[in-house]
Amino acid sequence: MLIDLMNLTIAWRRNMRIKFPPNVIVYNSSFRNIYLLSINLILISILSAFVGCARNIKVNPSHEPNNMDSTNTENSNKLNWFIPDGVRADPKIFTLFKWAREGKLPNIKRMMDEGSYGYSIPTFPSHTPTNFAALLTGTYPKTNGVADGPMRIEGQTLQKPAVAGFSSSARKIPAIWSEFEKDNKIVLLSLPGSTPPEIKQNGITIRGRWGGWGADFNSVIFEKKSVDQRIKLSRNSRLFFLGMELTQFVDPEDNTKWPTSDKNIEELYVPMTVYNTPIHAKLQRMRKDTDTNYDAVVFSRDMKTVDATLHKGEWSKWFPINVTWKNQIVKTNIKYHVINVGPGNFFRIRIIIDNLNTSIVEPSFVSEDLESDIGPMVDFVDNFPPQLVYYSEDKETFIAESKMSYEWHLNAIDAIYDRYKPDVFIHDIYSPNQMLTSKWWMGYVDPDSKRYSEISERERAILTIEVEDMYKQIDRIVGKTLDNSDENTLVVLSSDHGVIPLNTSVKINNLFAKKGWIDYTINPNTGEPNIDWINSKVVFLKMSNIYVNPEGLGPVWNRGTGPAYEKLRNEVIQLLEELRDEEGNKPLAAIVKWENVESKLKIPADRSGDLVIANKPGYGWAEDITRDLKIFTVPLETGYKQAVIASEVKGMWTPFIIVGKGIKKNHMISKPIQHVDQAPIILRAMGKKIPTYMVGTPIDEIFE
Ligand SMILES: [Zn+2]
Repeated sequence: MLIDLMNLTIAWRRNMRIKFPPNVIVYNSSFRNIYLLSINLILISILSAFVGCARNIKVNPSHEPNNMDSTNTENSNKLNWFIPDGVRADPKIFTLFKWAREGKLPNIKRMMDEGSYGYSIPTFPSHTPTNFAALLTGTYPKTNGVADGPMRIEGQTLQKPAVAGFSSSARKIPAIWSEFEKDNKIVLLSLPGSTPPEIKQNGITIRGRWGGWGADFNSVIFEKKSVDQRIKLSRNSRLFFLGMELTQFVDPEDNTKWPTSDKNIEELYVPMTVYNTPIHAKLQRMRKDTDTNYDAVVFSRDMKTVDATLHKGEWSKWFPINVTWKNQIVKTNIKYHVINVGPGNFFRIRIIIDNLNTSIVEPSFVSEDLESDIGPMVDFVDNFPPQLVYYSEDKETFIAESKMSYEWHLNAIDAIYDRYKPDVFIHDIYSPNQMLTSKWWMGYVDPDSKRYSEISERERAILTIEVEDMYKQIDRIVGKTLDNSDENTLVVLSSDHGVIPLNTSVKINNLFAKKGWIDYTINPNTGEPNIDWINSKVVFLKMSNIYVNPEGLGPVWNRGTGPAYEKLRNEVIQLLEELRDEEGNKPLAAIVKWENVESKLKIPADRSGDLVIANKPGYGWAEDITRDLKIFTVPLETGYKQAVIASEVKGMWTPFIIVGKGIKKNHMISKPIQHVDQAPIILRAMGKKIPTYMVGTPIDEIFE
């Protein structure tokens, strides 16, 4: 397969495709009819739902952006920037450049030969929205405002985040696409911080990620009801710990609703609901086998037509379905999968939902184009927090689903270039991060993990191949990117952060609860804590903030002042400074008062808690409050990246490779760059002025 790929990318193709403007395409797709109904109505209502959202005043660029000049022969005038999420590259363990030289990643090797390459260091806190904002603005969080995903601000409740870091509205600085907007066709695909869409002319925004815009569907797991298992998941069953339930527990019933006429088959009915639309499933076994297990699941959307009968590990094809989202009917597609069925009447079913629909793409016709060209979208595998980490069968599901996501993104590149011929294409896929932060891999492939020795070398060899396969998928996408580039295209590969082993969860709120600083109850059915904010004084909230107020943290949070506040805050600092795990090691890397976060961590004070904490490698702060009040636990996930100070932790580093006019060829950059350097480098390579608010350096040694 690699040989085929190498042949494919022997030459960079130059305008070989026949291009179709989208408004003259004639479709044969059945999707078209489905979507035409009430599209305008849906869109109007969706957009109006966001009108009320407060938007920060954007800083204007300090100069008039140059329009790209197609006759300019000195600089690249097109950009293809691929930023897969969580692609680690470091000099010792995830040796991406070495793998490329060994022939494992032929397209990345080609980029290295044709351009400059090296490592890039993420900014604190080292997670996704912060680093996408740093990459796309050339600024640190203290300037661009994106210090986290969920962010709290004074005068608002702590219970619910006031600012969503994945939304474009969280950013106080324009993204790099504002430098191109006027004349150039821009396509943004699955990019955190890109929605609600900002490009109003000549641009296409596809989906974003968790930007709170459009009908953003999440895949769901349905599992046989078990209070123990539900409590085990606690808040981790919910999207970002407080949204919809990504794993739902249901009781199988006697099948009176949808019985089979076959007397030899015994059945149980499983009621499921996907975005308010019922989906019907029944577990089956042969009546003569009643002492044994149910071993098949039958699915239907209407209890008349059987969509699929699946056994353990099997997937169905896609089926169209109407679901309800914010009182609107949205046409989408679903695919069934049986993770497991049996023993007894146990079942674990995954329903994946097409991530594309007309409401989550602008302009909306693009979703029809892509559905017709390449089919329903699997944007990424699993979710956040991960759900495919609880049973051994989950790993196979994870691998199959991630392949679907790579396939979709690979095919999307040709479809997007064929139809829209973008001048600027910025593209993310989340699946690499999902793999490296999941349960199954990082803990066993990085010798820095405490779990490294828990498996045999033979088992490790399999895991290593699986991780390398992920890198090969990224390499294939790089190959497609090169296929669709020409001599005027600046091609850039980077990522938002690496991933390192997670050995120990530090349940800080259990520590605070022990001190009597948190007033809470725990739901006996779900294990989810319910905090009484008015009567709580110190609470940790993901990913790196501690809120302190001796007069209470509710109903809204206001910063405390005065001696009692300082006394309590210093007590918290001392407690965390002195905290040691069972082996006597200190999990705390840094604790910074809000007054100092801008100078010490480059994050914005107005979006920071009273204290901001960084963890040492191997540790991860956890928000849970549990009955046992244990502080140190071994988490299911074996990889992590949040709240690590990345400059000295090489597993957090990412690749940076740039190819284009005026860029040195086959040049290894002498030392790691910072993520904030990337936007200035790109603008310089395209012959454009660098806005004064960008603090990154357009590293000289990259340029010829
Ligand atoms: Zn990320």
